[in-house]
Amino acid sequence: MSHKHYLDWMQLALDDALPAAQRQELTAHLGECPACSAAWDGLQRADRLLAQAPLAAPRPGFTGRFNARLRQRRSQPQAVWGALALGLGAVGAAALVLPAGVGLLWTLAQLAGQPATATALFNSASAASQVMLALLNALYVTARGVGELALVSPLAWALTLSALGATALWVYVLRRLSLQGLRL
Ligand SMILES: [Zn+2]
Repeated sequence: MSHKHYLDWMQLALDDALPAAQRQELTAHLGECPACSAAWDGLQRADRLLAQAPLAAPRPGFTGRFNARLRQRRSQPQAVWGALALGLGAVGAAALVLPAGVGLLWTLAQLAGQPATATALFNSASAASQVMLALLNALYVTARGVGELALVSPLAWALTLSALGATALWVYVLRRLSLQGLRL
C-alpha cells in the first residue's frame, strides 16, 4: 500500500491537526514501517529546528537605516549630475579662455613668426630642421608675447582664474562623492 498518506498525516500531526483516530493509526504504522519512521524522525527534527530558530527579526533601527541608505542611493545620481554640470561649467570657462589664448597665439604667431617661417618654407634648400627652428623661434616669441599680454590683461586673468576655480570645485565635489563610497 502507498505510504504517501502517512506523510500527509505526519505534516498534520506536526501541526497538531491530525484527528486522534488517525494519529493512533499513524503511530501504529510508524512502529512497523522503517521508511515512514525515518521520515517521521526527519520531519520532527526539521520542525524542532524551525521552532528553535528565532525568526530573523531585523535589529532595532534597521528600517530607519535601510530607508536612510535608500535615500542616499537616490540622492547620489543627483549629486553626479551636479558634478557633471559643474564639470561642464569648468570646461565652458576653459573654452572661454582657450579661444582668447589661441586667437592671441595665432595673431602673435603671424606677426612674429611669419617672416622666419616664410623664409624657411620658401627656401627650397632648407631642411626640416630649419623649419623647426623657425617654428620654435616663433613659438618662443609668441609665448613671451602672450605672457606679457596676460600680465596686463585683467580679462585673461579673470577667465583663467574662474576656469581654475570651477575646475578645483569640480575636483572637490568628485572627491567628496568618492568619499561617500561612490566610485567614479
Ligand atoms: Zn510506511
